[in-house]
Amino acid sequence: MALTLSPTHVHASELVGERGSAAIMKERLSLANDQYVALERKLTESAASEKDAQAQAQGSELKASNLEAEKLKLELEVQRLAAEVEKLKNAEPLKLKYGVYCSADGTPHCNKCKTPITNFGWATFFDGQVKAMYCNCSKTPLILHENGEPVDAPTAMRAMVPGAA
Ligand SMILES: [Zn+2]
Repeated sequence: MALTLSPTHVHASELVGERGSAAIMKERLSLANDQYVALERKLTESAASEKDAQAQAQGSELKASNLEAEKLKLELEVQRLAAEVEKLKNAEPLKLKYGVYCSADGTPHCNKCKTPITNFGWATFFDGQVKAMYCNCSKTPLILHENGEPVDAPTAMRAMVPGAA
C-alpha cells in the first residue's frame, strides 16, 4: 500500500481563516474577561450598598429587594460570562505538532475532519512499520512525523500532553 507522508497539506485560504478566527477568538475572550471583571466589581459594590440600605433604613425594604434582584441578575451574568470565558479558552485553535493538529490539552485531531482521534494501528512506512493513528473518517493512516522521520504515535501522543517531558 502506497503511503504519503504529507497529511499536513493545508490550503493557504484555510490557514488565513484559522489565523483570522484565532484573532477574533482572542478578542472575544479578552472582552468577556473584561466584562466578567467589571460585573464582579459591581456585584461586590451592590453587596456593600445592600448592607448599607438594610442598616440605614428600615423603611426602604423596597430598595433592598430591588438590590437583591439586581444582585441575583448580576450573579447570573457573572456565571454566564465565566462559562463563556471557559468555553473560549477551550476553543483555542488547534496547533500543528508531529504533522497532526493538536488541541491545547494535547489531544490529536484528524487533519481532514478535525475530530479527536484515539485509534492506533500499524502502518507501513517505506520498508518499516510504525504505529500510526486512524480516524473513523478515513482508512488512510495518519503517520506522525518529526524532521521527516516517522514517530511512534503513542509516544508522540504522550509527548503532546502539556507538562510531559
Ligand atoms: Zn477524520
